[in-house]
Amino acid sequence: MEIYDHPTFRMACQQFELVADHLEIPHGERDRLKLPKRSLTVALPIHRDDGSTQVFTGYRVQHYLTLGPTKGGLRYHPDVKLGEVAALAMWMSWKCALTGLPYGGAKGGVACDPHTLSKVELERLTRRYTQEMIPFIGPQTDIMAPDLGTNEQVMAWMMDTYSVHAGHTVPSIVTGKPVGLGGSLGRREATGRGVAYLVNRATDTIGLDLGKATAIVQGYGNVGSIAALSLARYGAKIIAVSDVRGGIYNENGLDLWKLEQHVAEQKTVSGFPDAAPISNEELLLLPCDILVPAALERQITEANAGKIQCHILAEAANGPTTPEADLILNQRPEIFIIPDVLCNAGGVIVSYFEWVQDVQSFFWGETEVVDKLFRSLETAYTQVLATSRKQKIPMRLAALSLGIKRVQEAKRIRGLFP
Ligand code: NAD
Repeated sequence: MEIYDHPTFRMACQQFELVADHLEIPHGERDRLKLPKRSLTVALPIHRDDGSTQVFTGYRVQHYLTLGPTKGGLRYHPDVKLGEVAALAMWMSWKCALTGLPYGGAKGGVACDPHTLSKVELERLTRRYTQEMIPFIGPQTDIMAPDLGTNEQVMAWMMDTYSVHAGHTVPSIVTGKPVGLGGSLGRREATGRGVAYLVNRATDTIGLDLGKATAIVQGYGNVGSIAALSLARYGAKIIAVSDVRGGIYNENGLDLWKLEQHVAEQKTVSGFPDAAPISNEELLLLPCDILVPAALERQITEANAGKIQCHILAEAANGPTTPEADLILNQRPEIFIIPDVLCNAGGVIVSYFEWVQDVQSFFWGETEVVDKLFRSLETAYTQVLATSRKQKIPMRLAALSLGIKRVQEAKRIRGLFP
């Protein structure tokens, strides 16, 4: 479909076709599995603080609804396009199926730079977006969550706007809310914590001592910062991190507690006193044991895939590795990949727990959340690793084929209406 044409959507389709060939899915069934079910594009006019009016563009894509409501994050970033959102929705579908969640995939986005908006402007934009989405979303239809550029506060405004419309409080319309509004303990940390759990499992698999390992994290936001802290708790030494303004490097290890204070004050890792500055491109090529891309899509490409120097590539971001880069990495058995649909699945797993708690109005302690999270990740990791070894296929192909096969089976069993 031309409306989705975008490099990231082409990349998701390319990955899908590779898996479909592997699973020998008949060509006649492929479009039904691949193409998004619904998408909505909205114009979002808001009053700026200077009295002017500015119109932003917002999107939501629901990929498939066969197994339950759709689920997926909302992204605020200047480059957001419909095709990018559609690709992210597709990956969410495979991720939910891989981890056994009763959801289809969705994603939303607003093309804006949240850092250039005041808090009040951000609130107006979020409320207007939610208002425009009301006919399209619902706790049994489509549930949002934070992603790049959005956070708990954005989710709280969405929940409030939706609840005002419904006439009663509807916490289950979003996940990743503040705990005081029906959010789940452990949700904010879930994605990064899950990344570190899986890295720990991967070190067992390849025989690496995590207590002596070095790690690098690209993107020091919600996911990247928690992944770094959690890896440090497992004993790894974090030698470099970055954000949109650039990176910092100290081969003896960064003091993450001091870095937390620096980021809280400066809103960036740049300028951290105990480290040397480094560009995002250079950071990916530094020698390390664990490399964690936790920012944007398409960071590891055919240009740098041959040059990265890690033993574990833990894909915390969605779609950080292009199919062309994959071809190169598949020829480098010294690099063990934890593919994105598995690696960052902790976020949607605990989002599911939050939704279940909201629907039941029955809340769990953090230990229960983390325990259930690790058990879900363990099951998914074991299945992906076993499939990869049994069929002698790369981890990404194994993970995607498990997810896509489950969606294919669900669609086949439900049949096609009319
Ligand atoms: P965030 O907005 O909290 O953090 C993103 C970080 O990336 C920021 O530090 C930002 O400065 C940095 N960044 C942006 N552009 C960059 C660039 N060009 N180079 C280097 N760094 C850059 O977002 P997040 O929620 O941490 O999400 C990060 C990634 O993880 C995204 O790919 C997102 O889709 C994925 N993800 C997030 C969740 C979640 O629960 N938040 C779940 C699954 C996957």
